[in-house]
Amino acid sequence: MTKPSEALPITIRNVTKTYGKVFALNDVSLDVRSGEFLTLLGPSGSGKTTLLMVLAGFTRPDCGSLKFGDDEVIRKPPHLRDVGMVFQNYALFPHMTVAGNVGYPLRLRRVPKAEAAERIERALETVQLGGYGSRRIDQLSGGQKQRVALARAIVFEPRILLMDEPLSALDKKLRDRMQIELRHLHDKIGMTTVYVTHDQREALTMSDRIAVINHGRVMQLDDPVGIYEKPANRFVADFIGESTFLPVTRDGGNLLYAGQVLNISGDVPDASSLFLSLRPERIRIVDQSASESMNTFQATVQYVVYQGDSFLLYAKLPDGIEVGLRGVVRGNTVAQLPAEGDTVTLGVHADDTVVISGEEV
Ligand code: ADP
Ligand code: MG
Repeated sequence: MTKPSEALPITIRNVTKTYGKVFALNDVSLDVRSGEFLTLLGPSGSGKTTLLMVLAGFTRPDCGSLKFGDDEVIRKPPHLRDVGMVFQNYALFPHMTVAGNVGYPLRLRRVPKAEAAERIERALETVQLGGYGSRRIDQLSGGQKQRVALARAIVFEPRILLMDEPLSALDKKLRDRMQIELRHLHDKIGMTTVYVTHDQREALTMSDRIAVINHGRVMQLDDPVGIYEKPANRFVADFIGESTFLPVTRDGGNLLYAGQVLNISGDVPDASSLFLSLRPERIRIVDQSASESMNTFQATVQYVVYQGDSFLLYAKLPDGIEVGLRGVVRGNTVAQLPAEGDTVTLGVHADDTVVISGEEV
Protein backbone atom coordinates (compact mmCIF):
# COMPACT_ATOMS: atom_id res chain seq x y z
CA MET A 1 0.00 0.00 0.00
CA THR A 2 1.37 3.40 -0.91
CA LYS A 3 1.45 6.23 1.59
CA PRO A 4 -1.44 8.63 1.12
CA SER A 5 -0.31 11.81 -0.59
CA GLU A 6 -0.73 13.73 2.62
CA ALA A 7 -2.22 12.90 6.00
CA LEU A 8 -4.77 15.40 7.32
CA PRO A 9 -5.10 17.04 10.73
CA ILE A 10 -8.57 17.05 12.29
CA THR A 11 -9.87 20.08 14.15
CA ILE A 12 -12.91 19.55 16.37
CA ARG A 13 -14.43 22.68 17.92
CA ASN A 14 -17.24 22.95 20.48
CA VAL A 15 -19.10 19.89 19.26
CA THR A 16 -22.23 19.04 21.25
CA LYS A 17 -24.67 16.20 20.60
CA THR A 18 -27.68 15.56 22.81
CA TYR A 19 -30.18 12.71 22.83
CA GLY A 20 -33.13 14.07 24.80
CA LYS A 21 -31.57 15.14 28.10
CA VAL A 22 -28.37 13.12 27.60
CA PHE A 23 -25.26 15.00 26.50
CA ALA A 24 -23.52 12.29 24.41
CA LEU A 25 -20.96 14.99 23.55
CA ASN A 26 -20.66 18.10 25.69
CA ASP A 27 -18.72 20.93 24.04
CA VAL A 28 -15.85 18.78 22.74
CA SER A 29 -12.80 20.51 21.26
CA LEU A 30 -9.89 18.37 20.14
CA ASP A 31 -7.02 18.58 17.66
CA VAL A 32 -5.81 15.40 16.01
CA ARG A 33 -2.39 15.90 14.47
CA SER A 34 -1.67 14.95 10.93
CA GLY A 35 -0.60 11.28 10.76
CA GLU A 36 -0.94 10.59 14.47
CA PHE A 37 -2.58 7.62 16.18
CA LEU A 38 -5.01 9.16 18.67
CA THR A 39 -7.17 7.05 20.95
CA LEU A 40 -10.51 8.00 22.49
CA LEU A 41 -10.54 6.16 25.81
CA GLY A 42 -13.44 6.10 28.21
CA PRO A 43 -16.02 3.90 29.93
CA SER A 44 -19.09 2.56 28.20
CA GLY A 45 -21.56 5.35 27.43
CA SER A 46 -18.96 8.12 27.63
CA GLY A 47 -19.53 9.29 24.04
CA LYS A 48 -16.69 7.61 22.12
CA THR A 49 -18.81 6.08 19.37
CA THR A 50 -20.84 9.27 19.02
CA LEU A 51 -17.66 11.29 18.44
CA LEU A 52 -16.40 8.77 15.87
CA MET A 53 -19.78 8.86 14.09
CA VAL A 54 -19.60 12.65 13.99
CA LEU A 55 -16.14 12.38 12.38
CA ALA A 56 -17.41 9.82 9.87
CA GLY A 57 -20.49 11.90 9.05
CA PHE A 58 -23.12 9.39 10.20
CA THR A 59 -24.17 11.61 13.12
CA ARG A 60 -24.87 15.32 12.77
CA PRO A 61 -24.02 17.21 16.00
CA ASP A 62 -26.34 19.89 17.44
CA CYS A 63 -23.58 22.46 17.03
CA GLY A 64 -19.86 22.82 16.55
CA SER A 65 -17.31 22.76 13.78
CA LEU A 66 -15.23 19.97 12.24
CA LYS A 67 -12.33 20.50 9.88
CA PHE A 68 -10.23 18.00 7.94
CA GLY A 69 -7.20 20.09 7.02
CA ASP A 70 -8.68 23.47 6.04
CA ASP A 71 -11.96 21.94 4.91
CA GLU A 72 -15.12 22.42 7.00
CA VAL A 73 -16.85 19.03 6.65
CA ILE A 74 -19.66 19.17 9.20
CA ARG A 75 -22.28 19.24 6.43
CA LYS A 76 -20.55 16.74 4.12
CA PRO A 77 -22.12 13.28 3.77
CA PRO A 78 -19.96 10.29 4.78
CA HIS A 79 -19.00 9.19 1.24
CA LEU A 80 -17.51 12.60 0.45
CA ARG A 81 -15.31 12.72 3.58
CA ASP A 82 -12.39 10.52 2.48
CA VAL A 83 -12.63 8.53 5.71
CA GLY A 84 -12.13 4.79 6.20
CA MET A 85 -14.06 3.20 9.04
CA VAL A 86 -13.81 -0.08 10.94
CA PHE A 87 -16.95 -0.72 12.99
CA GLN A 88 -17.15 -2.51 16.30
CA ASN A 89 -18.97 -5.56 14.85
CA TYR A 90 -16.98 -5.51 11.53
CA ALA A 91 -20.24 -4.98 9.54
CA LEU A 92 -19.04 -7.33 6.78
CA PHE A 93 -21.42 -8.68 4.15
CA PRO A 94 -21.61 -12.37 5.06
CA HIS A 95 -22.89 -13.53 1.66
CA MET A 96 -20.02 -11.90 -0.25
CA THR A 97 -16.47 -13.14 -0.71
CA VAL A 98 -13.51 -11.45 0.94
CA ALA A 99 -12.72 -9.62 -2.31
CA GLY A 100 -16.38 -8.60 -2.65
CA ASN A 101 -16.29 -7.04 0.80
CA VAL A 102 -12.94 -5.31 0.39
CA GLY A 103 -13.89 -4.04 -3.07
CA TYR A 104 -17.19 -2.54 -1.92
CA PRO A 105 -15.89 1.03 -1.39
CA LEU A 106 -14.23 0.87 -4.82
CA ARG A 107 -17.51 -0.12 -6.51
CA LEU A 108 -19.20 2.83 -4.75
CA ARG A 109 -16.48 5.04 -6.21
CA ARG A 110 -16.79 3.42 -9.67
CA VAL A 111 -13.15 2.37 -9.84
CA PRO A 112 -12.56 0.31 -13.06
CA LYS A 113 -12.51 -3.47 -12.53
CA ALA A 114 -8.86 -4.18 -13.34
CA GLU A 115 -7.62 -1.40 -11.10
CA ALA A 116 -10.02 -2.48 -8.36
CA ALA A 117 -8.71 -6.06 -8.47
CA GLU A 118 -5.17 -4.79 -8.09
CA ARG A 119 -6.06 -2.51 -5.18
CA ILE A 120 -8.04 -5.23 -3.42
CA GLU A 121 -5.09 -7.60 -3.58
CA ARG A 122 -2.73 -4.88 -2.34
CA ALA A 123 -5.03 -4.10 0.62
CA LEU A 124 -5.30 -7.80 1.44
CA GLU A 125 -1.52 -8.14 1.35
CA THR A 126 -1.21 -5.14 3.68
CA VAL A 127 -3.33 -6.95 6.28
CA GLN A 128 -1.55 -10.26 5.57
CA LEU A 129 -4.47 -11.90 3.80
CA GLY A 130 -2.90 -12.06 0.32
CA GLY A 131 -4.61 -14.76 -1.77
CA TYR A 132 -7.74 -14.88 0.44
CA GLY A 133 -9.91 -12.93 -2.01
CA SER A 134 -12.19 -15.80 -3.06
CA ARG A 135 -12.84 -17.11 0.48
CA ARG A 136 -16.26 -16.72 2.00
CA ILE A 137 -16.57 -14.54 5.11
CA ASP A 138 -18.03 -17.38 7.18
CA GLN A 139 -14.90 -19.45 6.48
CA LEU A 140 -12.73 -16.96 8.35
CA SER A 141 -11.63 -16.76 11.98
CA GLY A 142 -12.43 -13.70 14.09
CA GLY A 143 -8.95 -12.27 13.58
CA GLN A 144 -9.21 -12.73 9.81
CA LYS A 145 -12.63 -11.05 9.67
CA GLN A 146 -11.17 -8.16 11.59
CA ARG A 147 -8.42 -7.83 8.98
CA VAL A 148 -10.92 -7.95 6.11
CA ALA A 149 -12.81 -5.08 7.75
CA LEU A 150 -9.54 -3.20 8.00
CA ALA A 151 -8.62 -3.94 4.37
CA ARG A 152 -12.04 -2.59 3.33
CA ALA A 153 -11.40 0.59 5.33
CA ILE A 154 -8.03 1.29 3.71
CA VAL A 155 -8.60 0.00 0.15
CA PHE A 156 -9.51 3.44 -1.22
CA GLU A 157 -6.52 4.98 0.56
CA PRO A 158 -8.45 7.40 2.75
CA ARG A 159 -6.52 10.12 4.50
CA ILE A 160 -8.30 9.47 7.78
CA LEU A 161 -8.92 6.09 9.42
CA LEU A 162 -11.50 5.61 12.19
CA MET A 163 -11.75 2.43 14.27
CA ASP A 164 -14.41 1.69 16.89
CA GLU A 165 -13.26 -1.00 19.35
CA PRO A 166 -12.06 -3.17 16.45
CA LEU A 167 -10.46 -5.80 18.68
CA SER A 168 -13.14 -6.21 21.34
CA ALA A 169 -14.51 -9.48 19.87
CA LEU A 170 -11.11 -11.23 19.86
CA ASP A 171 -9.64 -13.33 22.65
CA LYS A 172 -6.87 -11.83 24.73
CA LYS A 173 -3.83 -13.36 23.02
CA LEU A 174 -5.00 -12.45 19.53
CA ARG A 175 -6.00 -8.99 20.75
CA ASP A 176 -2.51 -8.40 22.14
CA ARG A 177 -0.95 -9.41 18.83
CA MET A 178 -3.38 -7.37 16.73
CA GLN A 179 -2.65 -4.26 18.83
CA ILE A 180 0.98 -4.38 17.75
CA GLU A 181 0.01 -5.28 14.17
CA LEU A 182 -2.46 -2.40 13.84
CA ARG A 183 0.10 0.01 15.19
CA HIS A 184 2.74 -1.22 12.70
CA LEU A 185 0.20 -0.93 9.91
CA HIS A 186 -0.52 2.65 10.92
CA ASP A 187 3.18 3.47 10.90
CA LYS A 188 3.49 1.94 7.42
CA ILE A 189 0.61 3.79 5.79
CA GLY A 190 0.77 6.89 7.95
CA MET A 191 -2.85 8.03 7.85
CA THR A 192 -4.36 10.10 10.65
CA THR A 193 -6.04 7.52 12.86
CA VAL A 194 -8.70 7.92 15.54
CA TYR A 195 -9.11 4.73 17.53
CA VAL A 196 -11.77 3.97 20.13
CA THR A 197 -11.37 1.63 23.08
CA HIS A 198 -12.53 1.28 26.68
CA ASP A 199 -9.40 -0.76 27.46
CA GLN A 200 -6.76 1.43 29.11
CA ARG A 201 -3.91 -0.99 28.47
CA GLU A 202 -4.78 -1.16 24.79
CA ALA A 203 -4.77 2.65 24.66
CA LEU A 204 -1.39 2.87 26.41
CA THR A 205 0.06 0.23 24.06
CA MET A 206 -1.06 1.69 20.75
CA SER A 207 -1.38 5.46 20.93
CA ASP A 208 0.68 8.52 20.19
CA ARG A 209 -1.82 10.41 22.33
CA ILE A 210 -4.90 9.51 24.32
CA ALA A 211 -8.03 11.59 24.88
CA VAL A 212 -9.74 10.36 28.04
CA ILE A 213 -13.49 10.86 27.69
CA ASN A 214 -16.15 10.87 30.40
CA HIS A 215 -19.77 12.05 30.20
CA GLY A 216 -19.18 13.41 26.69
CA ARG A 217 -16.27 15.59 27.72
CA VAL A 218 -12.51 15.37 27.20
CA MET A 219 -10.99 14.95 30.67
CA GLN A 220 -7.36 14.91 29.53
CA LEU A 221 -5.38 14.82 26.28
CA ASP A 222 -1.78 13.68 26.54
CA ASP A 223 0.67 10.99 25.49
CA PRO A 224 0.51 7.64 27.31
CA VAL A 225 3.25 8.58 29.80
CA GLY A 226 1.55 11.87 30.66
CA ILE A 227 -1.85 10.21 31.09
CA TYR A 228 -0.46 7.54 33.41
CA GLU A 229 2.13 9.57 35.33
CA LYS A 230 0.32 12.90 35.55
CA PRO A 231 -3.42 12.23 35.58
CA ALA A 232 -5.32 15.52 35.44
CA ASN A 233 -7.97 14.53 37.93
CA ARG A 234 -9.38 11.77 40.03
CA PHE A 235 -11.42 10.26 37.22
CA VAL A 236 -8.36 9.80 34.99
CA ALA A 237 -6.20 8.49 37.84
CA ASP A 238 -8.89 5.97 38.71
CA PHE A 239 -9.76 4.89 35.17
CA ILE A 240 -6.17 4.43 33.93
CA GLY A 241 -4.53 1.77 36.05
CA GLU A 242 -5.33 1.47 39.73
CA SER A 243 -4.97 4.17 42.34
CA THR A 244 -5.49 4.71 46.02
CA PHE A 245 -6.51 8.25 47.00
CA LEU A 246 -5.47 9.79 50.30
CA PRO A 247 -7.21 13.07 51.22
CA VAL A 248 -4.68 15.87 51.60
CA THR A 249 -4.96 19.25 53.28
CA ARG A 250 -2.87 22.40 52.95
CA ASP A 251 -1.04 23.77 55.95
CA GLY A 252 0.87 26.90 54.98
CA GLY A 253 3.37 25.68 52.38
CA ASN A 254 3.01 22.05 53.45
CA LEU A 255 0.68 19.29 52.44
CA LEU A 256 -0.61 17.02 55.18
CA TYR A 257 -2.15 13.59 55.18
CA ALA A 258 -3.49 12.44 58.57
CA GLY A 259 -1.39 15.07 60.32
CA GLN A 260 1.80 13.94 58.60
CA VAL A 261 3.78 16.35 56.39
CA LEU A 262 4.19 14.89 52.92
CA ASN A 263 7.33 14.92 50.86
CA ILE A 264 6.14 15.42 47.33
CA SER A 265 7.61 16.34 43.97
CA GLY A 266 5.74 17.98 41.11
CA ASP A 267 2.99 20.53 41.00
CA VAL A 268 0.04 20.83 43.31
CA PRO A 269 -3.16 21.72 41.46
CA ASP A 270 -4.98 24.86 42.45
CA ALA A 271 -8.09 23.12 43.75
CA SER A 272 -10.08 23.13 46.97
CA SER A 273 -10.08 19.34 47.24
CA LEU A 274 -6.76 17.49 46.91
CA PHE A 275 -5.70 13.86 46.96
CA LEU A 276 -2.41 12.03 46.99
CA SER A 277 -2.80 9.44 44.25
CA LEU A 278 -0.81 6.24 44.79
CA ARG A 279 -0.13 3.55 42.17
CA PRO A 280 0.17 -0.02 43.49
CA GLU A 281 3.50 -0.62 41.74
CA ARG A 282 5.05 2.58 43.17
CA ILE A 283 4.55 1.60 46.80
CA ARG A 284 7.10 -0.54 48.62
CA ILE A 285 7.37 -2.25 51.94
CA VAL A 286 10.28 -0.57 53.71
CA ASP A 287 11.82 -0.68 57.15
CA GLN A 288 11.16 2.29 59.40
CA SER A 289 14.60 3.80 58.84
CA ALA A 290 13.70 4.55 55.21
CA SER A 291 15.39 7.54 53.58
CA GLU A 292 14.09 11.08 54.05
CA SER A 293 12.67 11.37 50.54
CA MET A 294 10.37 8.45 51.38
CA ASN A 295 6.90 9.03 52.76
CA THR A 296 6.17 6.21 55.17
CA PHE A 297 2.83 4.99 56.44
CA GLN A 298 2.10 2.31 59.00
CA ALA A 299 -0.54 -0.14 57.84
CA THR A 300 -2.07 -3.49 58.67
CA VAL A 301 -2.01 -6.23 56.04
CA GLN A 302 -5.51 -7.30 54.99
CA TYR A 303 -4.73 -9.92 52.40
CA VAL A 304 -2.15 -10.98 49.83
CA VAL A 305 -2.96 -12.30 46.34
CA TYR A 306 -0.39 -14.33 44.44
CA GLN A 307 -0.71 -13.78 40.66
CA GLY A 308 2.23 -15.69 39.25
CA ASP A 309 4.39 -12.88 37.87
CA SER A 310 3.40 -10.48 40.63
CA PHE A 311 1.60 -10.25 43.95
CA LEU A 312 -1.00 -7.82 45.21
CA LEU A 313 -1.04 -6.83 48.84
CA TYR A 314 -3.83 -4.84 50.45
CA ALA A 315 -3.14 -3.03 53.70
CA LYS A 316 -5.30 -0.76 55.82
CA LEU A 317 -4.14 2.64 57.05
CA PRO A 318 -5.20 3.78 60.57
CA ASP A 319 -8.03 5.89 59.07
CA GLY A 320 -9.45 2.81 57.34
CA ILE A 321 -8.32 3.57 53.78
CA GLU A 322 -7.16 0.43 52.00
CA VAL A 323 -3.96 0.70 49.95
CA GLY A 324 -3.09 -1.70 47.13
CA LEU A 325 0.57 -2.56 46.59
CA ARG A 326 1.91 -4.60 43.67
CA GLY A 327 5.29 -6.30 43.68
CA VAL A 328 7.24 -8.46 41.28
CA VAL A 329 7.68 -12.10 42.21
CA ARG A 330 11.22 -13.34 41.92
CA GLY A 331 13.58 -15.54 43.93
CA ASN A 332 12.14 -16.09 47.37
CA THR A 333 9.69 -13.14 47.34
CA VAL A 334 6.76 -15.43 48.00
CA ALA A 335 8.31 -17.01 51.08
CA GLN A 336 9.01 -13.54 52.52
CA LEU A 337 5.61 -11.96 51.98
CA PRO A 338 3.94 -10.61 55.11
CA ALA A 339 0.80 -12.30 56.34
CA GLU A 340 -2.69 -11.06 57.18
CA GLY A 341 -2.67 -9.00 60.36
CA ASP A 342 1.02 -8.06 60.17
CA THR A 343 1.96 -4.42 60.63
CA VAL A 344 4.06 -3.10 57.75
CA THR A 345 5.60 0.23 56.80
CA LEU A 346 4.60 1.35 53.32
CA GLY A 347 7.07 3.59 51.55
CA VAL A 348 6.34 6.01 48.69
CA HIS A 349 9.26 7.94 47.23
CA ALA A 350 8.71 11.68 46.69
CA ASP A 351 9.30 11.11 42.94
CA ASP A 352 6.39 8.65 42.90
CA THR A 353 3.87 11.03 44.44
CA VAL A 354 1.14 12.67 42.39
CA VAL A 355 -1.21 15.20 43.94
CA ILE A 356 -4.44 15.56 42.02
CA SER A 357 -7.58 17.60 42.12
CA GLY A 358 -10.67 15.89 43.47
CA GLU A 359 -12.83 17.97 41.18
CA GLU A 360 -13.86 16.89 37.71
CA VAL A 361 -12.26 19.33 35.26
P1 ADP B 1 -19.60 4.84 24.05
O1 ADP B 1 -19.30 4.54 22.62
O2 ADP B 1 -18.52 5.59 24.75
O3 ADP B 1 -20.00 3.61 24.81
P2 ADP B 1 -21.90 6.27 22.97
O4 ADP B 1 -21.30 7.34 22.14
O5 ADP B 1 -22.41 5.08 22.22
O6 ADP B 1 -20.87 5.81 24.11
O7 ADP B 1 -23.10 6.87 23.81
C1 ADP B 1 -22.99 8.05 24.58
C2 ADP B 1 -24.33 8.36 25.23
O8 ADP B 1 -25.28 8.71 24.26
C3 ADP B 1 -24.92 7.19 26.01
O9 ADP B 1 -25.58 7.68 27.14
C4 ADP B 1 -25.90 6.59 25.01
O10 ADP B 1 -26.94 5.93 25.69
C5 ADP B 1 -26.38 7.82 24.28
N1 ADP B 1 -26.75 7.51 22.88
C6 ADP B 1 -25.89 7.17 21.89
N2 ADP B 1 -26.54 6.98 20.73
C7 ADP B 1 -27.85 7.21 20.98
C8 ADP B 1 -29.05 7.17 20.18
N3 ADP B 1 -29.00 6.88 18.88
N4 ADP B 1 -30.22 7.46 20.80
C9 ADP B 1 -30.26 7.76 22.12
N5 ADP B 1 -29.19 7.83 22.92
C10 ADP B 1 -27.99 7.54 22.37
MG1 MG C 1 -19.16 2.64 21.64
